[in-house]
Amino acid sequence: MADCKLQINGQRIARRIEELASCSEPSKGVTRLSFTKEFQSGQKLVEKWMIDAGMTVRIDNLNNIIGRYEGSKPDAPVILIGSHLDTVINGGKFDGMLGVISGIEIVNVLFENDTRLENPIEIIGFCDEEGVRFHSTFLGSKAIAGTFSEETLAVKDEQGVSLAGALQQLGLAPHNYQSAALDPKNVLGYLELHIEQGPVLEAEGLPCGIVSGIAGASRYSFKITGFAGHAGTVPVTLRKDALAGTAEWIIEIERLAKENVPIVATVGKLQVVPGASNVIPGEVNGTLDIRDTDVQRKNEVIKSIFRAAEEICEKRKLTFHVEKMMETAPTLCNNGITAAIESAILANGIKPIFLVSGAGHDAMAMAALTKIGMIFVRCKEGISHNPEEFASVKDMEIGAKVLLDTVIQLIVKDKNILKERVI
Ligand SMILES: [Zn+2]
Repeated sequence: MADCKLQINGQRIARRIEELASCSEPSKGVTRLSFTKEFQSGQKLVEKWMIDAGMTVRIDNLNNIIGRYEGSKPDAPVILIGSHLDTVINGGKFDGMLGVISGIEIVNVLFENDTRLENPIEIIGFCDEEGVRFHSTFLGSKAIAGTFSEETLAVKDEQGVSLAGALQQLGLAPHNYQSAALDPKNVLGYLELHIEQGPVLEAEGLPCGIVSGIAGASRYSFKITGFAGHAGTVPVTLRKDALAGTAEWIIEIERLAKENVPIVATVGKLQVVPGASNVIPGEVNGTLDIRDTDVQRKNEVIKSIFRAAEEICEKRKLTFHVEKMMETAPTLCNNGITAAIESAILANGIKPIFLVSGAGHDAMAMAALTKIGMIFVRCKEGISHNPEEFASVKDMEIGAKVLLDTVIQLIVKDKNILKERVI
């Protein structure tokens, strides 16, 4: 059941989104890279809002900011709510920030209503999720989850500043990164609210949805080899055109992905050799990226995709070569937390739908520490990592209300919901 007494202030969320967006390098959209002066001024704003909402604030050695709202039972495990405060270059105002501001908003509402839940709540603004500056993602959430590795401190940015150096310049002690790690025994679970960064909620006409999991990705590089020749003299019936073969294969990849929704498959990069208007393409180098939460289904589709490549290449007298570049495992959201989000959504009169996140989030790193759950909020046309990124005040208000009701469900009404852990 939704708690009607506790009213989310959507205007306050919207005002804070704008204020935080002003902490940016001069750029189109928002550019706030980790550990820069713009980042630090954004963090100062967050600190003030946390204090105004009745929280005590600490900053750990990786520059994560954490606001704590005590519970009525101080020894009870904490419920964590977080997202990131860094952006991409020329990014939007909502990606990451909405999760932190929504977390602060729900504590603010509890504080204004003189309400203390049994368990403490901690709101986390993670230091680096996008990985733009050091090309290493989830720095803050890995430190808190206890999976941060020492060698990451030596990674350098384009100016030659190491991560350790950047943190030391802020007066932090990065080599004590272990002090940022939380003890899983003291944590009840982790929640993250994030804009969807995709178009499904808009297409469904829904303000928010439940994330079932974060897809694992497999990435390959491939080479299709034919034979280059004169574009004017070789008849099309006698060609070994590597690009024409690749094109046929890409259409087959699209067909297989459509047959296996919600899997997504993308050929995102192609290099045509020699790449001249009067030469038949002799070679194509490219990348294939496939994502799904279901590893078995993903592996079957990958097998079919490669079988199709072999068949097309045999038919066209081309050769196919593929190499795996990267593989990440999917992260599933906890069934108990997901059920709590679902009842919070139902209590707010919204049809619950389940979405797979194709993008990575801090929740992936936090899954190593505790049970996770995620709420997606509709964003206009699914646009993200772009100055055009937009979520309406109404949707942000509903998203924060669902977050608050989920916390209440978890903490007050049904703690047993968390007993079952889904791996
Ligand atoms: Zn994000």
